[in-house]
Amino acid sequence: MIFGASRAKAVDQLNNFIEQNLIDYSKLRNFDFGSGNRSNVSCLSPFIAHGIINELEVIDKSLKKFSFAKNEKFIQEVLWRVYWKGWLELRPNVWSDYLMELEKIRNDFKNDQNYQDAVHGKTNVDCFNQWVFELKDKNYLHNHARMWFASIWIFTLKLPWQLGAEFFMQHLYDGDAASNTLGWRWVAGVQTQGKHYLASEWNIKKFTNDRFQNIKLNESATPIFSDKTYSISKKDFSTSEILEDKTLLIFENNMSFEFSDFKENKFKKILLVSNEINRKIKLSGKVLKFKANLLEDQKIRLEEKSINCKIINIDDLKNITEEIYALYPNVGENLGFIQNNQLKNIKFLYRKLDQFSWQYCNKGFFNFKKYIPKIIAKFN
Ligand SMILES: Cc1cc2nc3c(=O)[nH]c(=O)nc-3n(C[C@H](O)[C@H](O)[C@H](O)COP(=O)(O)OP(=O)(O)OC[C@H]3O[C@@H](n4cnc5c(N)ncnc54)[C@H](O)[C@@H]3O)c2cc1C
Repeated sequence: MIFGASRAKAVDQLNNFIEQNLIDYSKLRNFDFGSGNRSNVSCLSPFIAHGIINELEVIDKSLKKFSFAKNEKFIQEVLWRVYWKGWLELRPNVWSDYLMELEKIRNDFKNDQNYQDAVHGKTNVDCFNQWVFELKDKNYLHNHARMWFASIWIFTLKLPWQLGAEFFMQHLYDGDAASNTLGWRWVAGVQTQGKHYLASEWNIKKFTNDRFQNIKLNESATPIFSDKTYSISKKDFSTSEILEDKTLLIFENNMSFEFSDFKENKFKKILLVSNEINRKIKLSGKVLKFKANLLEDQKIRLEEKSINCKIINIDDLKNITEEIYALYPNVGENLGFIQNNQLKNIKFLYRKLDQFSWQYCNKGFFNFKKYIPKIIAKFN
């Protein structure tokens, strides 16, 4: 799979997947047939993660093709992202604690041979090494491979999950603070305390069509222990009144202007905010290039609508003193920059989908799932 960094390519990919492969999604989605054969999953995450296509757009198209009952699994997966985001929004300290732990662990492990072998794909586990190369080469891994990878990293190679999550963020085109951090926490057994995900030889063999041999894993490890608990923070996700002739910021990780509920407003100009260096986790050159291309593509789309726009660096925000609006960038690197620099002149605009769905993110995903028909009814 080669990811073309434009909305036009993303929409083509979405349409093709819905027309040709959605029908078998629930039956085949758990198989990782290898990087040359990804038709059993959508590979849309690099675009959805950046707001280039929108969850509701994906769901709407899928429902035009098949009924909710036939589509339920796919829709659940699509909304899983919204759930993880909401879960983290309600507990933002999970992200800030993760970054603090990472800084310390990174230092402790910088010369660790076991860690170096892992990130260079030189371990004794062949499938793991293969996924390391695939991650760096294709910047995407199948969901099941992400689960196996994380599990092997934590329980067989005995490396800290925080470093593994960093490695994923550096190389994934869809790298996302919520889905990635919480995905790794879930595998480790600290997200649902005491419940971890243990990869096993038979499961990998079955779902990779027996592509790998010599899979010797630690299949009896116990979950990672953490006594940290996070209470739900009271945060206001309401959007304040939007005055005309103001500037709007669109951050690189949420370029969802077309679906933002605010596209009808008259903004004086739109600033597209790139962030290459002000990151706690440094991204690979390929990921930065992918993001830069997506921003450029968004700029062209805005210019086609005769909207005055420009790409700026996140550092430039420190020089803006007027009151401005921003599509909310969610808990993660960009929001962290705004908070650390106390940029109080930025007023956030929230997506209606998030405002409505995040109220159901206080508990586990099984609870959230119950509200999916309600969420869909609200927006369809
Ligand atoms: C350890 C770990 C780390 C992960 N890190 C990320 C990450 O950084 N960014 C990211 O976008 N996803 C992450 N995921 C979730 C998931 O693996 C990917 O979203 C999915 O593999 C994307 O491939 P796809 O688009 O072909 O998915 P499909 O199976 O086609 O699913 C359709 C869409 O549903 C959403 N989705 C599917 N599964 C999940 C999931 N488990 N969590 C959240 N959303 C989901 C995605 O938007 C995806 O594009 C991670 C999962 C694990 C276990």
